[in-house]
Amino acid sequence: MPTTADFERMLREAALRVTRPRVAVLSAVHEHPHADTESIIGAVRETLPKVSHQAVYDVLKALTAAGLLRRIQPMGSLARYEARVGDNHHHLACRSCGAVADVDCAVGSAPCLTASDARGFTIDEAEVIYWGLCPGCSPGEPEAPDEAKGNQ
Ligand SMILES: [Zn+2]
Ligand SMILES: [Zn+2]
Repeated sequence: MPTTADFERMLREAALRVTRPRVAVLSAVHEHPHADTESIIGAVRETLPKVSHQAVYDVLKALTAAGLLRRIQPMGSLARYEARVGDNHHHLACRSCGAVADVDCAVGSAPCLTASDARGFTIDEAEVIYWGLCPGCSPGEPEAPDEAKGNQ
């Protein structure tokens, strides 16, 4: 887990001024990957109780624009943020509970950026979301048989 000093260095390297809300937001997103804005505000308020919604929105926007955070928005879901940037990884999304998980691309170092026909677009990002049900929502094998027994 990166420390406050690491977050400060990341901000400086991205030519952003180091402020407490920026450090707190970076830290919250590292701790809660794929969190939505409300969850991030909740986490930030554990260290900065008085921070406003608007301040957190603004910081998320600035950090995303600077490439320190990545914003994803699965269809029908709220925007979510993660600190794992630059590797163009993909996501698994559960249709039932909305859980989101990372999935590395199967092959290649710049996965999926080579479209079969780019139609003149300059491509800088490829987004793949695999939709389905997470283990907890799948009807198949029960996730925690011991717990089920305990409830009987
Ligand atoms: Zn689920
Ligand atoms: Zn991710």
